[in-house]
Amino acid sequence: EHYLKSIEENKHLNVFLDVYHSEAISKAQELQNKIDSGQSLGKLFGLVIGIKDVLVQKNKEVRSASKILEGFESQFTATSVQRLLDEDAIIIGSQNCDEFAMGSSNENSAFGPTLNADDNLKVPGGSSGASAVSVQAGLCMAALGTDTGGSVRQPAAFCGVVGIKPTYSRVSRYGLIAFASSFDCIGVFSKNIEDNALILEVISGSDDYDSTVSNKEVPEYSKQLSFNKKARVAFIKETIENEALQEEIKNSTLERLNWLKEQGHEVEEVTFPHLDYVLPTYYILTTAEASSNLSRFDGVRYGYRAPEAYNMESMYKLSRTQGFGEEVKRRIMLGTFVLSASYYDAYYTKAQKVRRIIRDETRDILSKYDFIIMPTTPSTAFPLNSDRENPAEMYLEDIFTVQANVSGIPAISIPNGRDKSNMPIGLQVMTDVFKENELYAFSNYLM
Ligand code: GLN
Repeated sequence: EHYLKSIEENKHLNVFLDVYHSEAISKAQELQNKIDSGQSLGKLFGLVIGIKDVLVQKNKEVRSASKILEGFESQFTATSVQRLLDEDAIIIGSQNCDEFAMGSSNENSAFGPTLNADDNLKVPGGSSGASAVSVQAGLCMAALGTDTGGSVRQPAAFCGVVGIKPTYSRVSRYGLIAFASSFDCIGVFSKNIEDNALILEVISGSDDYDSTVSNKEVPEYSKQLSFNKKARVAFIKETIENEALQEEIKNSTLERLNWLKEQGHEVEEVTFPHLDYVLPTYYILTTAEASSNLSRFDGVRYGYRAPEAYNMESMYKLSRTQGFGEEVKRRIMLGTFVLSASYYDAYYTKAQKVRRIIRDETRDILSKYDFIIMPTTPSTAFPLNSDRENPAEMYLEDIFTVQANVSGIPAISIPNGRDKSNMPIGLQVMTDVFKENELYAFSNYLM
């Protein structure tokens, strides 16, 4: 009831697309009965959690914040969400985001932008912007988001909360509406590391419904949160010296690194000359995958169908023209272009090769150091409706976050002070694949 009331009082933030009032209350009642009758309680007993509108739930509408899914209800529940329910969490509602998770400001939603709770004239980041705000504003205790190129970490940084993108394949994608399948990761927002670790350990692990998910055993992250060794930390010269980096973010990152040195940890500068290629590689490969994944929205199988369609061809065309927003169309066209016969080798194949180089070089650094530290974002939250000369400028927002997705490694954003206008600053920590336990323990030490 407390959270339902907070949601009602903060409607202007535009966080929830659906609130599951009666269901949440009856689940709470059911949990109370469990206590009364002395039954054993799940790991997430009573945890009130919100779900980004890209994870499906049985008999519930899901929209990916797009008009094209209008009226569509899922026949099954995503594995990650089911695991929360199985451990006695309370799902409070579905949360706004950028359409099909494409964006960095939550402004690409067909349901209007979500506002940053610290400054209502600023964006919360994206694409999981509303999920970050839900935790920032205390509308629920935690939220599930997705991170294809930074969509959990960037909004976490903009809203002053903790957000993790785990290793690719750590969490089943069954029931996640695909954007770019070889990058998509389900991640967690929370106020602190312990909650985050507990939720990730519940949703991680093998799943017969997703053949790409790892069978590796899931450690109990939440029970390994003390860090008492000497860490070897690298920071990448090209990130700290990046022209676009806001001065206060640079300073707070350097202060953190200095503090680590003072505590006796090894902190060293490394170079990563390929940083400039990370964004183009990401945008070529993700648009290619998106153009293929989004071809299923054809006016026949899901949601919206243009009423004035008069034959099959016009049904496809009109439904997609009216159903998709601008940014989604831009990416479908870009992706179709890079996959086309005459350009496939020049763009798609080339980008796959560059991806391999970026991954190998990143993991090479991580074979010598335990962690890489860098800012999560080049700036703190920017104003809504910012003037940008061209839409690709928004893509620069992802400069520090996409490396982890291109490489498949886990990365987390934790709060690291505020700027002059009192907006939160995020610090990003990365480590090698499947070392979430160390990432959490070290982040806990840093917080
Ligand atoms: N901002 C990035 C993009 O627009 C990241 C999106 C994401 O991680 N879902 O592609």
